[in-house]
Amino acid sequence: MEAMIDDLVRIVGDTGVLTAADDVSAYVTDCRNYYKGTALCVVRPRSVEEVASVVACCVARSVPIQPQGGNTSLCGGSVPFAGGRGVVLSLSRMRRIREVDAANNSITVEAGCVLAEVQRAAVDAGRFYPVSLGAEGICQIGGNIATNAGGTGVLRYGNTRENVLGLEVVLPDATIWHGLRSLRKNNTGFDLKHLFIGSEGLLGIITAATLKLHPLNTRHIAVWLAPVSLDAALELLNLLQSSLGAQLSAFELMNAAHMQNVLALTPGLQTPVNADCPWHVLAELGDDAVDDGLRSSIEGVLQTALSGGLLTDAAVSANETQRAAMWHIRHSVTEATQKAGRGVPHDIAVPVSKVPEFVRRVSPILEQKFAGMRIVIVAHLGDGNLHFLPLFDFDTWDAFPDPQTVIDEMHRITYAVAAELGGTFSAEHGIGQYLLAEMRQYKSEVELNMMRSIKNALDPRGLFNPAKVLP
Ligand SMILES: Cc1cc2nc3c(=O)[nH]c(=O)nc-3n(C[C@H](O)[C@H](O)[C@H](O)COP(=O)(O)OP(=O)(O)OC[C@H]3O[C@@H](n4cnc5c(N)ncnc54)[C@H](O)[C@@H]3O)c2cc1C
Repeated sequence: MEAMIDDLVRIVGDTGVLTAADDVSAYVTDCRNYYKGTALCVVRPRSVEEVASVVACCVARSVPIQPQGGNTSLCGGSVPFAGGRGVVLSLSRMRRIREVDAANNSITVEAGCVLAEVQRAAVDAGRFYPVSLGAEGICQIGGNIATNAGGTGVLRYGNTRENVLGLEVVLPDATIWHGLRSLRKNNTGFDLKHLFIGSEGLLGIITAATLKLHPLNTRHIAVWLAPVSLDAALELLNLLQSSLGAQLSAFELMNAAHMQNVLALTPGLQTPVNADCPWHVLAELGDDAVDDGLRSSIEGVLQTALSGGLLTDAAVSANETQRAAMWHIRHSVTEATQKAGRGVPHDIAVPVSKVPEFVRRVSPILEQKFAGMRIVIVAHLGDGNLHFLPLFDFDTWDAFPDPQTVIDEMHRITYAVAAELGGTFSAEHGIGQYLLAEMRQYKSEVELNMMRSIKNALDPRGLFNPAKVLP
């Protein structure tokens, strides 16, 4: 394999290939420290042509390729397996913003651009890129596209899929697909970009993308709500949607256990409302009007909700600092739960109307079966997507003779109820290596066979992100 490393160095330069164990370690360990793999080396090309040459070099020697963006995958999708003898292909040196076309409301960026950089470039052009998530300071556009990332703006702007106009991709045979179109309409055969959106690195390397931009809201208001129950939270969602329409862009739900964790483990944080309520909602509203009509509309809606008994308390952000503080509480979930104990993550979705039933059915079963556990819930309620996290303190977790049986049992119970309610076992995080058994159980043979056919057509030797997604 030394000859291959020499070839890779010739392609990307000696600073573009990492082989020392200390340098490689961060690229083979996932962000939650659940998975640790191995790789021959990490290779970091600087251009689409270099990516194509790296792919040709690996494929000629039948060496597997692990595509990697910001390595923030929550399902072990971005790291190789233990014992793997492949190459991690990191897009981190492809970070150019190639073009901003404000008149066309589009931006073309390389896959290694960090999401927050793209958001900033859009604002600099007087526009808005709406995909937003807790990892936005680290995750990359290529990773967002490969996972069809969701996040907090889906209610109004859709998933990443709805915000991609064109792609540039290096295929497993090392050819380059120049599909960077910036059109809203183009019915010329199959729309191939959709194959790569959500493909989790199985079908090729996304090297650049043309993304949709939106008008920049001049006014943003965050509202913190204390609904009396989960059903009341759902009624509030409907009330805000029917009263304020597209001005509502996020409706995030958190339970009391989430708030207790965050408040206990994040110094200086305070709840914007009465801390004793069972549920909390953070809603975000925005428009580009010059007057303060939005604020008075919200205050009117909140008055209706308070007098109708849906709420016990509410706080409307008065300025940008208060708004940022509210979002900080929402985004502290990952850090706070990692400090609080060992969680068993579930990223499920059910129809929005079925969310209360899902929680009512699953929580008591788990609480009865597993003593000493708290359920942390953080949900994009507007999309019916719940991050449902049974959390154990570290001592309880370490005392389990076989923790995997706990994980398996929790998955079995939780995903079965989600499926009965017409839901899914992975709403936005993908499959990676975490949910292979569930793919086998819940996807039909027809669906799996169609996916396998597409995979075989593009990557007949199975070298791209092997043994992930497809059981
Ligand atoms: C704190 C935190 C909050 C999060 N919140 C959300 C959320 O709200 N919504 C959400 O959807 N996700 C969320 N995630 C998960 C994660 O951030 C997203 O899945 C993100 O889109 C991954 O981007 P990445 O660049 O880190 O990709 P990686 O983790 O590096 O890779 C993810 C997958 O994409 C593939 N891939 C990466 N780049 C490419 C490329 N250029 N070409 C082909 N394949 C590629 C990898 O092989 C892997 O299968 C969160 C993660 C964290 C840590």
